Amino acid sequence: MSMVQEIKTNVGGLSEALLSRYSGPCPRYTSYPTADRFSALDGVRPWAALQDIRSLSLYVHIPFCRSLCYFCACNKVITQQYGLASSYLDHLLQEAQWYRDKVARVPVTQLHLGGGTPTFLNDADLRRLMEGLGEVFELNPGDGVEYSIEADPRTLEPETLDTLRELGFNRLSLGIQDFDAEVQRSINRICSADQVGALTAAARERGFASISYDLIYGLPQQNLDTLQRTLDRVLALQPDRIALYHYAHLPHRFKAQRLIDTDLIPPAAEKIAMQLAAVEHLVRAGYAFLGMDHFARSGDELAIAADTGRLQRNFQGYTLMPADALVGLGASAISYSRSGFWQNLHRLKEYARAIGERGYAACRGWLLSEEDRLRQRVISELMCRLRLDKGEVERCMGTPFAEYFHEELERLQPMFDDGLIYQNDKAIVVTEQGRWFVRNVASAFDSYLHNQPTQAQYSRVL
Ligand code: SF4
Repeated sequence: MSMVQEIKTNVGGLSEALLSRYSGPCPRYTSYPTADRFSALDGVRPWAALQDIRSLSLYVHIPFCRSLCYFCACNKVITQQYGLASSYLDHLLQEAQWYRDKVARVPVTQLHLGGGTPTFLNDADLRRLMEGLGEVFELNPGDGVEYSIEADPRTLEPETLDTLRELGFNRLSLGIQDFDAEVQRSINRICSADQVGALTAAARERGFASISYDLIYGLPQQNLDTLQRTLDRVLALQPDRIALYHYAHLPHRFKAQRLIDTDLIPPAAEKIAMQLAAVEHLVRAGYAFLGMDHFARSGDELAIAADTGRLQRNFQGYTLMPADALVGLGASAISYSRSGFWQNLHRLKEYARAIGERGYAACRGWLLSEEDRLRQRVISELMCRLRLDKGEVERCMGTPFAEYFHEELERLQPMFDDGLIYQNDKAIVVTEQGRWFVRNVASAFDSYLHNQPTQAQYSRVL
């Protein structure tokens, strides 16, 4: 038996049969309905409900990067011209102003700067951004809120960490991907573990409450051994949280990926083995597996929240601080309120033109029905708490669970038979083995997936 076969057979008790039945493409459910379902707004105004909230999340998309990573699937612009970022920021702050009379003045409990590379912005523009946001939104930096930023360790200067702390950021997310030199060369992203170690130490000294690393498995030149070595180096630096994503090679959708030598990508069986081995490695090292791709060091707030059933999920992944609404600013950013979702134009030029002409850039979205909201709650319960209380659904719908969800229970039957879930009078519960396939369990309640097929390509479960 090869090492890969042995791991596939033994880690997590996953059999070939389970993997072949459930490891295929499936939505990740950062939203329900999934974003590929959004359509033209046609006069719909889901932001009207922003007046009726008690807390707010903000997401800011900064799409600029200095060089191209070949695996990248983000909405980004590779440039050396800083002027582009400056004028983008002008538009973004103009967009923020558009929300001035549309959002209730409530505390921003979560702020996330994502990209691209948010630290592409120089310190003066980071200040300008936060001051501009502060004119419209109730920013309240402090221990009780999560203000996070994604940073590229190759270009982040320790002085910028001072600026970020001063501006209220208390969480830092560093894009690592892999420490192996060959892997780094094949994805055009060279960054030493020493550099990351120094930045991690500098961020800790400055009081960042949580430091998170992003890693990827399934990259060209990776194998079980290289991944093991990367994980050992990562563990030596003790990040508070780790996100371990799967590399999905979709060169027809993401142009950058055409630069990747397909012959160097590990075969599917080895990718599965890598994920299983990595999860086992991290769990043995004391990290809680939150589900999907996320891990938190034991004692971290997220690990505690997972234990106590308080974990939530939004577009940025797992969180314990859900707000009543999210305003996403910048090209391609998604927002939501109780009424629904709205997403901005993707391309920079179109985004800038829309902001110049009408002050906002939303172009597509979704108005939530009562039925959507129920399914949204059901999917969130399964993804975050790994159980679904039947009583709550019954109270909500006034119909017995088995009657209301009889089609869904039929879809779930193979998963009951395979031991991924079980049920009693009160709840449906995801088993230890079922955690690997929680997306499949959730997808049984996705009525659009089953009734309105799309061309969308979802990532693989394993
Ligand atoms: S991976 Fe990050 S830094 Fe690299 S090109 Fe994509 S957004 Fe930019």
